[in-house]
Amino acid sequence: MRPRAIARTHYFALAVGLILTVASVLAFRRATAERDAVRFHNLVSGTRDRIDRRIDTYVALLLATRSFAAANGTMTAREFRGFVGGLDLQQRYPGIQGIGFSRRIDAASLPAVVAEMKQQGFPDFRVWPEHARSEYHSILFLEPLDRRNAAAIGYDMFTEPTRNEAMSRARDTGLPAASARVTLVQEIDEQKQAGFLLYVPLYRGAANTIEERRRALDGFIYSPFRARDLFVGLFGTETAPRVAFTVYDGPTATADSLLFKSQGSDDAGGLSETLQLEVAGRPWTVVFNTTRAFEATSTGGLVYALAIFGVVMSLALFYLARARVFAHAAAEVERANLQSLFMQAPAAIAILRGRELRFELSNPLSNAFVGRDDLLGKRIADVLPGLGPVGLLDEGERVLSTGEPFIGTEVPVPFPDGRTAFVNVVSQPLREPDGSIGGLMLFAYEVTDMVLARKKVEASEHHFRTLAEAIPQLVWTASADGFVDYANKRWHEFTGIEGTLGLEEAWGTVMHPDDRDAMIERFRRARSERAPFSGEARLRHAASGQYRYMMIRAVPLHDGEGNVLRWFGTTTDIDEKKRGEQERERLLAELQQAVRVRDDFLSVAGHELKTPLAALMLQVQGVQRQMEKGVTGQPLVERLARASSHLRRLDRLINELLDVTRVTGGRLVLTREDVELRALVDEVVDRFAEQASSQGSPLVVTGESVQGDWDRGRLDQVITNLVSNAIKYGAGKPIDVAIVADATHVELRIRDRGMGIAPEDRERIFERFERAVSLRHYGGLGLGLWITRQIVEVHGGTIAVESVPGEGSTFVVRLPRQRPSR
Ligand code: ADP
Repeated sequence: MRPRAIARTHYFALAVGLILTVASVLAFRRATAERDAVRFHNLVSGTRDRIDRRIDTYVALLLATRSFAAANGTMTAREFRGFVGGLDLQQRYPGIQGIGFSRRIDAASLPAVVAEMKQQGFPDFRVWPEHARSEYHSILFLEPLDRRNAAAIGYDMFTEPTRNEAMSRARDTGLPAASARVTLVQEIDEQKQAGFLLYVPLYRGAANTIEERRRALDGFIYSPFRARDLFVGLFGTETAPRVAFTVYDGPTATADSLLFKSQGSDDAGGLSETLQLEVAGRPWTVVFNTTRAFEATSTGGLVYALAIFGVVMSLALFYLARARVFAHAAAEVERANLQSLFMQAPAAIAILRGRELRFELSNPLSNAFVGRDDLLGKRIADVLPGLGPVGLLDEGERVLSTGEPFIGTEVPVPFPDGRTAFVNVVSQPLREPDGSIGGLMLFAYEVTDMVLARKKVEASEHHFRTLAEAIPQLVWTASADGFVDYANKRWHEFTGIEGTLGLEEAWGTVMHPDDRDAMIERFRRARSERAPFSGEARLRHAASGQYRYMMIRAVPLHDGEGNVLRWFGTTTDIDEKKRGEQERERLLAELQQAVRVRDDFLSVAGHELKTPLAALMLQVQGVQRQMEKGVTGQPLVERLARASSHLRRLDRLINELLDVTRVTGGRLVLTREDVELRALVDEVVDRFAEQASSQGSPLVVTGESVQGDWDRGRLDQVITNLVSNAIKYGAGKPIDVAIVADATHVELRIRDRGMGIAPEDRERIFERFERAVSLRHYGGLGLGLWITRQIVEVHGGTIAVESVPGEGSTFVVRLPRQRPSR
């Protein structure tokens, strides 16, 4: 269906709905009218039957009364009352005013009748109207004789034309006869009702012909009826009668002849029916009409409900149809959109139908892909024979049979022209409405350029990796945010880190804590400035656990807009170079220190050598002067003795210097022999005895004799140096020399009670030229302890000092007693 045709269907639905509504409303109304007519007719005939039956009943009552009267030739008022009273009229026959007897009286009999009546208890009885006439009729009895009926006693109804007509008819026919409408003489109140009378003739003797009947007429048994009382009595006072009626006396309905109007007879509209009734020879016209109660019980009112229901349903149908139409239109639009999407899609889209996979649809790109426009209806296997060998046809079969879509990435598709294109392809099963698979939907786009480009990148990446693995450096690359996504084997080996992690994290685990923060800071700055960075830091070599100096360099690779794509980093082991540098620096410092020490030494040595030399010169000059003067003997000897003590001092200084050159030249060679230490110590102490006692520092030696394999001369030198220092720095207090030996070692402890040595100087004083006192107060080259230590160490021993500044020092020499085995 074309959209425009569809667009009209909802109006069509509305029209059909409305027409159906009108039709059913009409049909319903007709059915209702018919049913109402039947109902009405039933009600009417029911009502008429009741009227008929009641009139018949009254006639029967009159006939019964006549029989009674006929049986009692001379009927008294009492007898009549007894009979009629027995009928119990008011209770059982409501509406009847009474039953009476009107006698025909000829003029001659009148006085006797009057007299008779007076005698029977009607003292005021008279026949009225009273004008003279040949024949009188007079109501003699009328029961029940209430106030109203009493007013009628004596009345000659024959004098009144309407009554006269009915009475004559009854007399002549011998049948009951009803009068036309009258106003009863009983209507003594203001409110007068219409009424009528019913007569039954009473004959005495044969009454077969009119003449006989006129002759034999004795009078009439009759009933006066008040119309309202009659009909109300008949129908009661129904509050909502469904049918109303108006009773007219006579063949036509005129206001003059109105007998009774029932409740609801003024209701306008509705059904009406006019009936002719025959009431005791008198035509009555009864007009029936429906009342509101009738209408209310009619289903006619449902017509409106039906109409409203129909319209509502039509509208509902209309909106439903419209919604469907709109939905259909929306679907159309969608379909059109899909179609255009399909045709303009930047991918090849094709629909393949059936097991044979014939092209049902192929968008322009799909055509271009295959390189021909006449694909529709052709089998894909024929068009692209290359698909079979690469397994794509099998995949198609699989999708058809399993309904599982096929998704292929970078599938190499051989084309008929010989080239192979890489294609990303999605093949989706095409479901029929019944759920079966009727074909395939193919969606493909070529990714050859991408694949080739990626292969190129992969190749260059491969080159890069090969290169990175080949060079001796640790190589890594990191993403822009510093995540190490590649590192060469060397890097992994060196750091012991497996897998990939953030650069900062890696540094956190392998970088020396002292270098880490500065390096991370440097990398962060480089990242924010997108600039290369380099720095030196110690990294822990995983295998050895040693930190090695590394030069870390990283260069950012930028995109066209200056954003960092990744970082290329190298980490070069510069540990040896670095440590060499450090060693050089240390040596340089040492050298500078040595030069400084040498300079110091030269001035010290100059001073030290100069002092004994000057003294020696003085003595020599003195000797010279004394010899010139010819002085000989004791003075000369004393001077020469003094000169030789200065010479000894000079000799000792020069020996110290020579020792230094010997030691540093590696020429300190020991001449080992069996030495008895205690004896050697005593010998040295003896040598210093004079000097010591002159300075007030007595030397006390303790300890057993102990043998050792030592160089006697060098050991003498050690003891001499330590004892002379003890005297020199001992502040003139006693000095203890103790020898303590065990099986393998001997300890020589020389204790003074002098100035002591500050903790920071205790190592230093064993170095060359190092001194902890000023030259002004204490002379010396600062070489004695150094030489001492060299000698002790060459013997395989150790020397140390214990001291409490201000309280003295103890030098402890510990020597192995045997030559240490190499
Ligand atoms: P020096 O010729 O200066 O005595 P040494 O090498 O013998 O050279 O001693 C080095 C320095 O060690 C001395 O200058 C002195 O400061 C300190 N020293 C050596 N022995 C003692 C000691 N017994 N008490 C205090 N200081 C000492």
